[in-house]
Amino acid sequence: MSRARARARLAMAGFPKLAWQAGTIVPFADARVSVADRGLLFGESVYEVLPVTAGRVRWQAPHFARMREGAAAIGLEAPAWLDADAHWPAALVGAEGIDEGLLYLQLTGGAAPRAHLARATPELFAFAMPHAFPDAARRARGLLARCVPELRWHRRDLKTTMLLPSILGKRAALADGADEVLWLGADDHVLEGGSSNVAIVERGVVVTPPAGPERLPGITLAQLEQVAVRLGLTVRHEAIPRARLLAADEVFVLATSLLVMPVLRVDGTAIADGVAGPVALRLADALAAALASG
Ligand code: PLP
Repeated sequence: MSRARARARLAMAGFPKLAWQAGTIVPFADARVSVADRGLLFGESVYEVLPVTAGRVRWQAPHFARMREGAAAIGLEAPAWLDADAHWPAALVGAEGIDEGLLYLQLTGGAAPRAHLARATPELFAFAMPHAFPDAARRARGLLARCVPELRWHRRDLKTTMLLPSILGKRAALADGADEVLWLGADDHVLEGGSSNVAIVERGVVVTPPAGPERLPGITLAQLEQVAVRLGLTVRHEAIPRARLLAADEVFVLATSLLVMPVLRVDGTAIADGVAGPVALRLADALAAALASG
């Protein structure tokens, strides 16, 4: 197939028009990683998803910091492109014409002859996609969640692209009519969602599982904690057994693409009276305002 035809086909299929690779913006159909790439062959790869609002990339510094830290943890050297104040993300988002959307970045191990311990030069690539962040009406409809025993590895604090367990968990949730999986660790503790962090509200106090290797240190959660303090709310980091979650006044999940999203039912059981809770909705409004100024 000619390049022009390949590009036309990708454009029609809803892919981005452009990608960024090693300092250059290229047509999406021309962006390449090798079939020998260690991210592809071994899952040696970390990624980030950043919010874009009013045409601006938000929360770049904490997302880039997490990618640099994740890269170091899996032995990849982070390129200078990941400096907190890099301008290329804004250039890519502008060229793609995204007003509201998501910027996807991946640092992948790079190409080397296939051997577990081979070393290669990591490659960074990115693309931007339109995305509608949930509005008040969407938040009021909330999500349904389903608990599934943990299937993933022991470094869930790293945002690697080894996402097959997440896909299987989300499929299991969907098969039960739910929108998101909630991972259950040892002793039936709820750790996080398939692509979100989780929090509950008890008598006005926000509780989320402790930071550590069991869950991702979500950027949305970190931003929410700052917003909560400004609103005078207390946030605690405590283990949340499934029974505590089901008995909570409110449950919500947090992620870049969702911001704050109420969970109305877990495993078919209504949380409180089964409607979006007031603390989650207040936090969602405040976080949306913080995002718009971030
Ligand atoms: N936990 C997991 C497993 C995720 O995949 C994600 C986001 O994709 C999150 C939490 C939320 O992280 P963030 O707020 O940085 O998007």
